Amino acid sequence: MQNTFDRSWMLPAALAAGLLAGAVVGWLAGGHVATGTAVVAIAEIVLLLSRIRHQAPFMMTQNSPVNSLQHDRFMTRSRRIASSLRDLRSAAGSLPDAVVLLDNEQHVRWFNHAAEDLLGLRRPQDRGAYLEERLGATELAGWLKDGAREPLNDVTAPGHPNRHINVTLLPFGRRQRLLLARDISHLTRLEQIRRDFVANVSHELRTPLTVIHGYLELIDPEDVPELAPVINEMRAQSKRMGQIVEDLLTLSRLETQDHVAEERVQMTPLLVSMRKEAEALSQGRHQITLENTAEVDLLGSPKDLHSALSNLVSNAVRYTPTGGHITIRWRRTPDGAVYSVTDTGYGIPASHLARLTERFYRVSSSRSRESGGTGLGLSIVKHVLNLHQARLDIQSEPGQGSTFACWFSNERLLAPGEPE
Ligand code: ADP
Repeated sequence: MQNTFDRSWMLPAALAAGLLAGAVVGWLAGGHVATGTAVVAIAEIVLLLSRIRHQAPFMMTQNSPVNSLQHDRFMTRSRRIASSLRDLRSAAGSLPDAVVLLDNEQHVRWFNHAAEDLLGLRRPQDRGAYLEERLGATELAGWLKDGAREPLNDVTAPGHPNRHINVTLLPFGRRQRLLLARDISHLTRLEQIRRDFVANVSHELRTPLTVIHGYLELIDPEDVPELAPVINEMRAQSKRMGQIVEDLLTLSRLETQDHVAEERVQMTPLLVSMRKEAEALSQGRHQITLENTAEVDLLGSPKDLHSALSNLVSNAVRYTPTGGHITIRWRRTPDGAVYSVTDTGYGIPASHLARLTERFYRVSSSRSRESGGTGLGLSIVKHVLNLHQARLDIQSEPGQGSTFACWFSNERLLAPGEPE
């Protein structure tokens, strides 16, 4: 029999306290990585706490008898540490993000108060419950069922139909996992306010702009030659404003849609009209080639796809100097088909590529304006492609040219004659 106290648990406990302090600081610092690390640390502590709780009484009886001084010291220290850990555990429990500890079979081991609120978990009956089953027919349960490989963004909170959450699943300990859910309802609300504002402003501007544009068209510059340059500039600018308003309205519509019409989009006539549009815009300044080898049609919205694909053609013409070459291609790949537009134009420095699809992002504002751009074209392309589960890939070399490619998966392809 040992005649000294077993203190082996005190070191991890002290470490745990330090770890949790760090974790709370990490959480306060914000950011997903910091939060993830912080909460994993908290999870370790919560588990350690439950282990200590079960071991401490056992250790006490195992290690007696002891001299009373040692005993008193031990008791004081253990009370202090236990109380710190209790505080820290309650801090972990009060985190505003929902935290659920899962064992290797996705059974719930522990969860905090936010998990009761956001995920609808209940104490004590949900301890040990199989989480996927407990969440019923929710998006979150579907995501867990599919392996939860990527974080899940902006879904309805199972415990609160009016709240929206982002969810991540982190590995932790030995094949255990930690589910983190953050309430993003306020961000969703702000985003909705922004969208409504843009849609309303665009809508309100449409009528006065049509009136101004109409009157300007009535004035013949030849009747007032001294004002001819001014009238022509006013016409060009009112037309540009009208186009910006139309593009903003298109974007607002696309943003509020979560699916598109499932119609056959016949690619051969569409590609021919792309080439015609390019020729009309180019006015003979460029050499334009069409290569159509895919022999498949698309399933989706004809209007939106036309608008996206023609945006890329129009950009190629506008950002390629006279004498350049533009190639429109539609070809098969092992996973689907690609529509691409390659030009031998100005090209884009690599540092701009990631931001090109943001609204009003331009590499050169003056070049965009001079060529009649609104700065919204690629944003529209990205939204249309998202709605068709397709992606945009941009390759560019300054001074050499660019290729904008839209990758469609097999699910969006229809062989000629195949029913929709
Ligand atoms: P814009 O109306 O200004 O053309 P877009 O959203 O269509 O707006 O494009 C955003 C920016 O991307 C453009 O302002 C331009 O700087 C750059 N860009 C787009 N397409 C090309 C291209 N084919 N070659 C070079 N730059 C391009």
